[in-house]
Amino acid sequence: VWSNCLDIIKDIVEWQHFNTWFEPISPVELRNNVLVIQVPSQFFYEYLEEHYVTLLGKTLRRVLGKEARLEYRIMVDSGNHKNKPLTMDVPAHGYKTFSNNEMDFPLVINNPVKNPFVIPGLKKMQIDPQLNPIYTFDAFVEGDSNRVARRAGKTVAEKPGANSFNPLVIYGGVGLGKTHLAQAIGNEVKRLHPNKVVLYVSSEKFINQFIDHSRNNAINDFIHFYQLIDVLILDDVQFFMRAEKSQDAFFAIFNHLHQSGKQLILTSDKAPKDLDGVQERLLSRFRWGLSADLQVPDYETRIEILERKMKNDGLDMPKEVVKYLAYNINSNVRELEGALISLLAQSSLNRREIDLDLAKKVLRNFVKTSSKEITIEAIQKMVCDFYDVPYDKLLQKTRKREIVQARQITMYLAKAFTKNSLKTIGEHFGGRDHTTVIHSCQTVKDLMDTDGLFRENVMELQQKVQLAAM
Ligand code: ADP
Ligand code: MG
Repeated sequence: VWSNCLDIIKDIVEWQHFNTWFEPISPVELRNNVLVIQVPSQFFYEYLEEHYVTLLGKTLRRVLGKEARLEYRIMVDSGNHKNKPLTMDVPAHGYKTFSNNEMDFPLVINNPVKNPFVIPGLKKMQIDPQLNPIYTFDAFVEGDSNRVARRAGKTVAEKPGANSFNPLVIYGGVGLGKTHLAQAIGNEVKRLHPNKVVLYVSSEKFINQFIDHSRNNAINDFIHFYQLIDVLILDDVQFFMRAEKSQDAFFAIFNHLHQSGKQLILTSDKAPKDLDGVQERLLSRFRWGLSADLQVPDYETRIEILERKMKNDGLDMPKEVVKYLAYNINSNVRELEGALISLLAQSSLNRREIDLDLAKKVLRNFVKTSSKEITIEAIQKMVCDFYDVPYDKLLQKTRKREIVQARQITMYLAKAFTKNSLKTIGEHFGGRDHTTVIHSCQTVKDLMDTDGLFRENVMELQQKVQLAAM
């Protein structure tokens, strides 16, 4: 079955992607209409989930029929709670529902058989905190981009509930480390205060649980359960936008926990002020504590993240490759890690040492070629930064050599990377006409043939523009 699936997939995805993301999968078993596949890591699984879930779903239904289901098994060496299968439903219309069934603990707290995570009879409830042990502070590299949030997180972990960061709201774009940091706090609390009841839950799951419980007229159970928690980590609260009823429940839980000196840690992909559709009374409570944002880490920090990651996994690669990745991937940390993993996978599949050449190949294929249209202005800005030339000089009639050259290169790049006409390009340079643009492009080409340094500079710029356009 799996090899049939692979045949279909092979025709659809690029070979490089196929090698990276499908070759390493091994089929484990087939029970009726459920295919179990094994993937090498949590990241790998998440990547598949994010990028190929529809393709996998469609393919599987084609091979196995409408009722097909896929189950993942993640290969891990430690942390046995991750060994449980994750299941994914593949419903007929390409819409995915996904749940890690084992983690959907029922909130009935007096039924130890149904509920492996909650054992009654002890003084404190034993609740599995649902934390991933790999997310630690040690593994979370500090940089200017995250210093405030990371340090606040440390304080919270040391004195949960008894600090002025309650709630701690961590916000920032996708892949910048919100989940990692929030979970690191949870893991650190568990390490320092083993008796504290910690629970990590995504807002999506919180909302789903709430809906289940309200269907069963068990909202009170739901709220009571959450009131038992000492440190509640609620991830991605932007999911609450417009989920009115769930917000009411969370409001009650928040108040109870906060009044009892319990700690709340929230994450959001938007700044609290931009959470339209979240009730003002909740937002005003979010302001009681500290909101700290995560930014894209700078180049040095990106290098350190890669190096820390490699060290943790016992890997090694030439420094120039590390620099190359860190330099070129400046979107977010998840992409950075993705590139690293993809590179490692390529190197082992092709039995080839990791070097700059391989890294270039992988990068070319790694970043999704959604080809954003890059603008003339963006190119102008890149060239100005590169040559340290003021923007207005680029447009004026200055005849200083460096500026003339920077201007010519900009025109050349604009011609090569945008769909603008020569006339439009000329207009972007203080109203020059199209013959000037033609002349500039020719000059650049000629110079590239004769001047090695010039050529290198242009190539480097070209690469920047290319990456920005991906
Ligand atoms: P988010 O929840 O903001 O989308 P994640 O917490 O899932 O992002 O982070 C994405 C990946 O990047 C994770 O594998 C995480 O470990 C890693 N990561 C993010 N920031 C850092 C950092 N400062 N140091 C080390 N790894 C990081
Ligand atoms: Mg997250």
